[in-house]
Amino acid sequence: MQVALVTVGDELLAGDTVNTNAAWLGERLGERGVTVGRTVVVPDDVDAIREEVSRLSERYDAVLVTGGVGPTHDDMTMDGVAAAFDRQVGEHEEALAYFDRHDTYAAEDLTEGTTHLPEDARLLENPAGVAPGAVVENVYVLPGVPDEMKGMFETVAGEFAGEGTHVEEVVVDAPESSLIDAVAELRAEFDVTVGSYPGEEVRVKIQHPDAETARAAADWFEERVQEE
Ligand code: ATP
Ligand code: MG
Repeated sequence: MQVALVTVGDELLAGDTVNTNAAWLGERLGERGVTVGRTVVVPDDVDAIREEVSRLSERYDAVLVTGGVGPTHDDMTMDGVAAAFDRQVGEHEEALAYFDRHDTYAAEDLTEGTTHLPEDARLLENPAGVAPGAVVENVYVLPGVPDEMKGMFETVAGEFAGEGTHVEEVVVDAPESSLIDAVAELRAEFDVTVGSYPGEEVRVKIQHPDAETARAAADWFEERVQEE
C-alpha cells in the first residue's frame, strides 16, 4: 500500500510549526508496512488543497490530510477535499448524531459549522478534541493538533496495512561513503530495502517482508563491512 500525506497550514510553510504530524504518520505507517510515497505541505487555501488532494488521490491508494479542520475562518480543508470530488460541504447527519451522544459537547453549544462535512463522507470521531474528521473516497481528513491527529489516526489504523515488514538495524562506525559497495551488494544479494542514516555513526536500516531474510541480510552486512 502506497499513501501520500498532505499537511495543511501556513504556519508549516513559514517554519513557525515543525511538521511533526508528517514525521509521526510516516513512522506509524512504516511500522504497518505502508509506504509513504509523497508528503506535501500546502497553505490554508481551498484551491491548493483541492489541487493536491485531487492529484494524489488518483495516484495513491490513500491520502491522509492533516490540519485546517474545524469551523474557524482559517479552516479550509473540508472545502478543499470536497471540491476535489465535486461535492458540497453541509450539515452532516452523522455529525449531528455524533454530537447528540457526545458526553462533553452538545450540538447547540458548538461553533456553527462544526457539524458540516463533505456530503456522503464517513465521519471520524475525535477522541481528543471536538472537530470530527472525515473519509471521502480514499482521502482521510484528520485534525492538525498533534494529539487529536494521533488519536483519530488510531481509530482507522487498521485500514492501513501493507506487507508486514521486518526491520533490522546495523550500526557502522565508518563514513557513509565507504559503505556504497557493500550496500549495493546487500541489495543485490537479498532484495531488501536499505536506508542509511549518517550521524556520528551510520545506522543502516534493512527491511524485508520476511523476518529471516531481514536477519540474514543484517548478519551478512555486518560481516561484509567488518572486512573493509
Ligand atoms: P483546530 O480545530 O484547533 O483549529 P485544526 O485541525 O484546524 O485544529 P490547525 O488549525 O491547522 O488544526 O492547527 C492546530 C494546531 O496544530 C496548531 O498549533 C498547529 O501549529 C498544529 N499543527 C497543525 N499542523 C501540524 C503539523 N503538520 N505538525 C505539527 N503540528 C501541527
Ligand atoms: Mg484550525
